[in-house]
Amino acid sequence: MILDVYRAKFNKDFYLNTEYKNCLCGSFSSKKLFGYDRYLLKTSVVVCKNCGLIFCNPMVKKSFIENFYSSDFYRALYNNVSLEETNTNIFEDEDKEDSSNAYFSLKKYFLDRKDLNILEIGSGNNLILNHFKKMGKLFAIDFSNESKKRALNMGISFQQGGVDKIEKFDEKFDIIILSHVIEHFINFDEDILEIKKFIKKDNALLYIEVPSLDAKYNLDQFQIAHNYHFTKNTFLFHLNRLSLICIEYGVTGGGKINQWGIFKIGSRVDIKEKVNYEYQKIIKIHKKFFYDFYGTYLVKLYLNLIIKKIIGRKLTQVIKIFLSKVRKH
Ligand SMILES: [Zn+2]
Repeated sequence: MILDVYRAKFNKDFYLNTEYKNCLCGSFSSKKLFGYDRYLLKTSVVVCKNCGLIFCNPMVKKSFIENFYSSDFYRALYNNVSLEETNTNIFEDEDKEDSSNAYFSLKKYFLDRKDLNILEIGSGNNLILNHFKKMGKLFAIDFSNESKKRALNMGISFQQGGVDKIEKFDEKFDIIILSHVIEHFINFDEDILEIKKFIKKDNALLYIEVPSLDAKYNLDQFQIAHNYHFTKNTFLFHLNRLSLICIEYGVTGGGKINQWGIFKIGSRVDIKEKVNYEYQKIIKIHKKFFYDFYGTYLVKLYLNLIIKKIIGRKLTQVIKIFLSKVRKH
């Protein structure tokens, strides 16, 4: 199985492919939360004791992760399919997702404008961007070969790579979309500041969407490609720190597990008080997660094993079937 082979190699080379960093707030004081991600790949997820931001430390190096994305391999890994299957259908799950939230959230700010420059960074299947085609010219950036093919078929101007490729368009933008992208950034501040250079001065907006740790805090949220994990407070605090001011905030996705904001460039305001108690909040949530995890999963597992040992496997099965029938009635 592709994941097993990859996991062994990744875990062995973990310290070669990663490096230590301070938190985005500058603090180096943190507490470790998780040692493995949801695919049992080695990681080190910590929470900052100053601002409550959750991030990977050590974090994978830029050179490693860019190879990982541009190969389209990570989609195969995460869907646990062969690379051949992946090449034909790498966006299958993403194609089924609702891609309209950015469009419906932004449309009202631009009314009937048809002359806008709209850029999506990390455009994937380009379906989010495609909603905007009547509003102006579309531009996309992604590491993926498949994304490039699709963009060209859809008439979207495309650059292959990361944030450093924006300048190649030689344009400024009215709308920039970053949907499930900034949590992957390695040089977070540098990348956001680079993006800001290409946003028009007047009335331009950014749409940023990321997973929400407020909505869901469990192992599903943690995967090695995500370097930063945001609650509402840390999401708004760290963008405000870089002078991106949130003018609208919401949640989306099944179970409201994703959060989004519309941001304009402005003067940063002091909102440090929003994250003063974030660390304590995260520790509380983390303890509850562990209590639930051990309480429900492990206790159940061992209890089952003990019962099986005492009364025998066959009798356990009979009781199980009987109980499930009783519960149905
Ligand atoms: Zn911090």
